[in-house]
Amino acid sequence: MKVYVLDTGYLETDKNNVVGGATMGTYSQPYVQNKWIKLPVMAILIDHPDGKILYDVGSNPEAMNGYWPKNLQEVYPLYQTKEQRLENQLALCGTKPEEIKKVIISHMHLDHAGNLDMFKHADVYVPKADFMQAQTQVRLNENPLTHGGYIKADMDVSVKQYHLVEEDFEFAKGIEIVNLPGHTPGLLGIVVHLENEGTLIFPQDCVYNSEIYGPPAKASGLLYDSLSFFKSIEKVRDLEKKYNAKVFFAHDEEFFKTIKHAPECYE
Ligand SMILES: [Zn+2]
Repeated sequence: MKVYVLDTGYLETDKNNVVGGATMGTYSQPYVQNKWIKLPVMAILIDHPDGKILYDVGSNPEAMNGYWPKNLQEVYPLYQTKEQRLENQLALCGTKPEEIKKVIISHMHLDHAGNLDMFKHADVYVPKADFMQAQTQVRLNENPLTHGGYIKADMDVSVKQYHLVEEDFEFAKGIEIVNLPGHTPGLLGIVVHLENEGTLIFPQDCVYNSEIYGPPAKASGLLYDSLSFFKSIEKVRDLEKKYNAKVFFAHDEEFFKTIKHAPECYE
């Protein structure tokens, strides 16, 4: 089994969206400077003996050309070169989208579910609570300002079959799906047990970066349910200890520089 981290570009945003209250005024320094930071966006390709599996699909390449509403282009602008488009990252690993029959989506946000239209032939595993939330939210009201981090066009994609996941289970030999709700109503992380390089944990937006992870864990600026958010972070920490695993932070610019990117892989 081989695991490839695909570099699908990056978002930028105010740090307060990532680490809650990152820049706060105090009595002696009431006015503080905001920080505008980069958030790498990754997808994970697993070359498994039973077939290729993709975990998350990144952002739609047309995001900044009107595919995303203006408010999201302002708050989370996407930067993506031609080489960073999902199909070109897959090509680095000698893979075509048609070859991928199983896709796991951590949650339905714009930087994780933006290229589902490449996988209409696939079985797609999604966290039930977040899928229901996303589908509902984009249909209640025409106004995209009410859709949060979900894009209606992403939610309109039909696939071979959506599988609504609520439980932790062994997805394939050596790959576990774990439920990590909090950031969104439901969120799926994956735990991958490799022969040579041990266990890797991909919690995606349950753990944005090393600062959020701590310990102690910190709240992110954007979260659906703070109690389950902190509980899920501790679940990741327990898994890290149990397997002596490596945790891959979802959107951490410094961390991202330290890991292997496709075509290099973990095996
Ligand atoms: Zn994200």
